[in-house]
Amino acid sequence: MDALIMDGQSLSLGAVAAVQRVRNPISLARRVMTDSGHAFLVGYGAELFADAIRFPRCEVTDLLVGEDLEAYLARQSGEPIPAGAASPIAGPKGDTVGAVALDWHGNIAAATSTGGTRKKQPGRVGDSPLVGAGAYADNRLAAVSATGYGEAIMKVLLSKQVCDLVGLGLSPQGACEAAMRLFEERTGSDGGVIAVDARGDVGYAYNTTAMPHAWARGTDPVQSGR
Ligand code: ASP
Repeated sequence: MDALIMDGQSLSLGAVAAVQRVRNPISLARRVMTDSGHAFLVGYGAELFADAIRFPRCEVTDLLVGEDLEAYLARQSGEPIPAGAASPIAGPKGDTVGAVALDWHGNIAAATSTGGTRKKQPGRVGDSPLVGAGAYADNRLAAVSATGYGEAIMKVLLSKQVCDLVGLGLSPQGACEAAMRLFEERTGSDGGVIAVDARGDVGYAYNTTAMPHAWARGTDPVQSGR
């Protein structure tokens, strides 16, 4: 699992990649930011850090549901893998969760957490934990989180690109739309972004068939879309 969190006031960030048996990798990324003296820890070293700070670990089976759980259990016991789960393209394409937020003091932050792409090669890391690609936050610009095909997103640093467009004067909504157009033109790939700026203006755009999203401002009712 991979995760990245970034604080738009201080530009502090914390990231983990290729960590296993961690139920909330975004919380581990936060601890990397606040307690490690580093910004990015991966694999064995990230897990050593988790254990050193007594960060809760879980079982692999706690992180799987449905066909993926069945396939994992079958593989462990040597049974044939259930038909649906054996297909490399079975089920939803991604499980990435992104969040952007603004607090009462006008500070913004972004966070992205993912299991990566389905049936990925061991050791593969996508865009999500890469600063500027999977997320970026700067109080002077915007806080952005991205999802989609990581190998393409990292080529254009999609989240930073949204921030830079806000810096050029676009609204978060305009910047998300423009960045997604550029992303599609330059990579031909799929993805989506969400953003908020320090005034609380939000934006989102995607070129996938769906990207469930929701936002709330103050005590206004939550708005959502797919
Ligand atoms: N961006 C993630 C990755 O490539 C996957 C996703 O967002 O669905 O690892």
